[in-house]
Amino acid sequence: MEEIDLVIIGAGPTGMFASFCAGLREINSVTLESLDTYGGQMLELYPEKEVYDVMAVPKMLSKDLSNKMYEQSQTFKRRFEFNSKVTDIIPQSDKRLAVEVNGEKKYLAKSVLICGGVGDFHPNKLNAEGEDEYNGKGVYYSVKSIDDFKDKTVAVIGGGDSAFDYQMQIASVCKNTYIIQHNNTFKAAESSVDAVKRDAKAKIIMNTDVKKINGDGNNVKSIEVFDNSSKKDYTIDVDAVIIAIGYKVNPSLFKSLNVETDKRYIKVDHNYKTSVDGVYAAGDMANVSDEPKFALIAVGGSEAYIAINNIKKYISPNASLFGGHSSSLNL
Ligand SMILES: Cc1cc2nc3c(=O)[nH]c(=O)nc-3n(C[C@H](O)[C@H](O)[C@H](O)COP(=O)(O)OP(=O)(O)OC[C@H]3O[C@@H](n4cnc5c(N)ncnc54)[C@H](O)[C@@H]3O)c2cc1C
Repeated sequence: MEEIDLVIIGAGPTGMFASFCAGLREINSVTLESLDTYGGQMLELYPEKEVYDVMAVPKMLSKDLSNKMYEQSQTFKRRFEFNSKVTDIIPQSDKRLAVEVNGEKKYLAKSVLICGGVGDFHPNKLNAEGEDEYNGKGVYYSVKSIDDFKDKTVAVIGGGDSAFDYQMQIASVCKNTYIIQHNNTFKAAESSVDAVKRDAKAKIIMNTDVKKINGDGNNVKSIEVFDNSSKKDYTIDVDAVIIAIGYKVNPSLFKSLNVETDKRYIKVDHNYKTSVDGVYAAGDMANVSDEPKFALIAVGGSEAYIAINNIKKYISPNASLFGGHSSSLNL
């Protein structure tokens, strides 16, 4: 196992800012991410949406903001390892932590900062015939690039905020869109439903299941649906299908690590320390007991800042808690 001061779990916005802060405090760290890239929810769930509530950034596409955060994390040349899922954290008798990556013990760390967000997330499948065959050939689970849908007829499956968000993101470039919901209610915000209803090129189909996705081997060509009201099957010609029926979230708790939790959160104190020495948590996955949680990019960043400074003090007790202003640096 490689000895290291700090393992940061997750390369979402919190983990990226934590990596930058670790550089600021000269902590030898590595950041491990189970996906093949950085960005977390920003890049996986809403890369084409504008974000307005990050300090000093009046407005920026989520994917661009994510790139900027990664760039900032590299100010101090931080190590990131992708396709590296942390599968366990095993406390050792000398208080260090063995960090298991993809099932193998890889790091012996003095401290760990868990920035796992909503956990390891995977989109729910529709389980329609043809779904796997056309995954990446017209079947999507989010909108990664609006250009993928240019001049296409697109069916968005689902009735929640994500389905309506996706429709609204792509509507201006599409030929036509459908929103297809399996029952008669929507969970999406009323304003979004009203906006889609006003869109002349959009059609909402209720109480209808998608049974099959057809194609020519290379691209989606149509979907077969079953109308639960009329009990009739019919076919709709489409070029793409976006399946937006939620995510399976695995909260990434580690079997050998007995941290206290509260609902879906890892409990932390005001220093973002968990109930286990050397283990800290920040961002969407962590919460100070009994306080409301603001699951936001800027909040995760400030939690990461506090956690890293406390980690510095934990691994180097003679160090000061506050590392000084970055404006004093001359990089
Ligand atoms: C549709 C939508 C719109 C949003 N809009 C805004 C907005 O406008 N403004 C705003 O401030 N916030 C917004 N948010 C919330 C914001 O995205 C989250 O608060 C933020 O992403 C949390 O960052 P995080 O780094 O804590 O977690 P995440 O972004 O979830 O990142 C966690 C990372 O950890 C990785 N991971 C998890 N478990 C492991 C493991 N065991 N090993 C290795 N890696 C692991 C995951 O793969 C992921 O990449 C929005 C969220 C959604 C869903």
